[in-house]
Amino acid sequence: MSLQEKQDIVQALGFSHRGHFYNCINGHTFVITECGGAMEASQCPECRAPIGGGNHRLDSSNTRAREYEDISRQQGGKESPWVWAADA
Ligand SMILES: [Zn+2]
Repeated sequence: MSLQEKQDIVQALGFSHRGHFYNCINGHTFVITECGGAMEASQCPECRAPIGGGNHRLDSSNTRAREYEDISRQQGGKESPWVWAADA
């Protein structure tokens, strides 16, 4: 996947200032907003794999999508630099 495609995904997900990017077990990227912690279990909108979790503990099949976080930070970080100070 090219950088441009990843940037498009970040924008398509509607990411602006808050949230963290993760991948489900099948590699679909999703966003957890607000504090960035996993506060409720859900399902991947693409494949219904379990995503999220409880008490800030992510489902063990999920992985952080740091590449996307970096892109979103580049796109929106300048407007809200303080949002990224705390990593839940
Ligand atoms: Zn999925």
